[in-house]
Amino acid sequence: MNELIIYNSLSGKKEVFEPITDGFVGLYVCGPTVYNFVHLGNCRTFISFDMVFRYLQHLGYKVRYVRNITDAGHLENDAEEGEDKIAKKARLEQLEPMEIVQKYTVDFHETLAKFNNRPPSIEPTATGHILEQIDMVQKILKKGLAYEVNGSVYFDVEKYDNEALYGELSGRKIEELKAGSRELDGQDEKRSPLDFALWKNAKPGHIMKWQSPWGLGFPGWHLECSAMSTKYLGDQFDIHGGGMDLKFPHHECEIAQGHAATGVKPVRYWMHANMLTLNGKKMSKSTGNTLLPNELFSGENDVLDKAFHPIVVRFFMMQAHYRSTLDFSSEALIAAEKGFHRLMDAVSLLPDLKTGKTSSWDIDDWIKQCYQAMNDDFNTPILIAHLFDAAKFIQSVNMNQATLTEEDKSKLIEKINAFVFDVLGLKLIEESQGDELSTVMELVLELRQKARENKDWTTSDAIRDKLNEAGILVKDGAEGASWSKE
Ligand code: AMP
Ligand code: ZN
Repeated sequence: MNELIIYNSLSGKKEVFEPITDGFVGLYVCGPTVYNFVHLGNCRTFISFDMVFRYLQHLGYKVRYVRNITDAGHLENDAEEGEDKIAKKARLEQLEPMEIVQKYTVDFHETLAKFNNRPPSIEPTATGHILEQIDMVQKILKKGLAYEVNGSVYFDVEKYDNEALYGELSGRKIEELKAGSRELDGQDEKRSPLDFALWKNAKPGHIMKWQSPWGLGFPGWHLECSAMSTKYLGDQFDIHGGGMDLKFPHHECEIAQGHAATGVKPVRYWMHANMLTLNGKKMSKSTGNTLLPNELFSGENDVLDKAFHPIVVRFFMMQAHYRSTLDFSSEALIAAEKGFHRLMDAVSLLPDLKTGKTSSWDIDDWIKQCYQAMNDDFNTPILIAHLFDAAKFIQSVNMNQATLTEEDKSKLIEKINAFVFDVLGLKLIEESQGDELSTVMELVLELRQKARENKDWTTSDAIRDKLNEAGILVKDGAEGASWSKE
């Protein structure tokens, strides 16, 4: 099998993946700020990295996947001053900040479970790692790369840039950044507009605050990821991911902080998933250009012609490469739904296919091509094209227009299951569950009919009542019994 190639945002090139420790991958992905329902755009990033997680596991790596929950320190408009996003929502909803955190963390988990995402190995929170964050600030201060003013600590970007290079991930040069930023006014505590907060002094009225060597305050937004990734994955780890919009300043700051604190660059491979767009523009809560997963599952949004199953939505996302933008539309989802059913119909036929002495298709070559696609920077759209080729072949064998040996059939079943279910994370969905229910109900009503013929009214009524309790209504008519769901 060929090697896994990953596009590294740091070098801007595809590179052969070589983990730091043989057989083990440390993967960190920036999680959500839990102050709102996750929108479909957020979900795309987490589904992209779920696929990466799944494929690494499929290749046999032991993966420690860490994805944080930002429950403090992320200020409005991603700014350095202002209200905490969570505290603001708590004020608006008249709840405790931790009630907001709980409410939207639960939503986040439930939503990702519907999309069949595997949970990460560790899901640390910012508020649970205040000590680690303070410790990191102290290390950076000791190196002379940060300074304290009025109870706040700022990272000294220009000083860091003299020793290392700031901006290598986003390709921004410090001179350009300076030219593009506003002048500091007399009120500013920072030495340079490029400096960013590691720790902020809590102004009166700021609710989410902790004791620190610099007084009561709270950590800067970028700091939590550096503190938690290095705590659970080491000073340097394999892969760091997140949405493309986090490249600057968030990830750039993470590199500078981590490097300053530990002396090594924290990440070997930086991966960025591209944006989901709606009407050609980035899906974003702040602009209102957004679609919520529940609207999609119920069909309740004007942009939708109908409701869609989460697994169909996942398939739609997998049909695009994670580094390409993807535009959402009802038509595109309808097309994806057709494709999904075509693929799943073939998958369902597979176990019952007749086998013979020869195979009229080169299964080994097909398997090789599937791995080639995934090893080329997780190219799921090419993988899906190969899966459609297999679906076509399965249909041909089913119609006796192609042949398959028993050995090849086993290989095909093994690899289809691996790619469709384990790697892409798809599932057989309701339609088939509906069919299963019909089959079971047919049997139950037949047994009830027998009881009635034997004048065993106790059994027949008990069956009806139990079904009723389960939300299934049984009606006795001239043609026999029929059933419906409440
Ligand atoms: P947030 O909760 O805003 O910090 O975002 C959580 C994750 O969703 C981050 O990795 C973002 O990069 C990602 N994200 C936000 N908007 C989109 C979008 N429209 N498409 C894809 N990913 C997004
Ligand atoms: Zn982060």
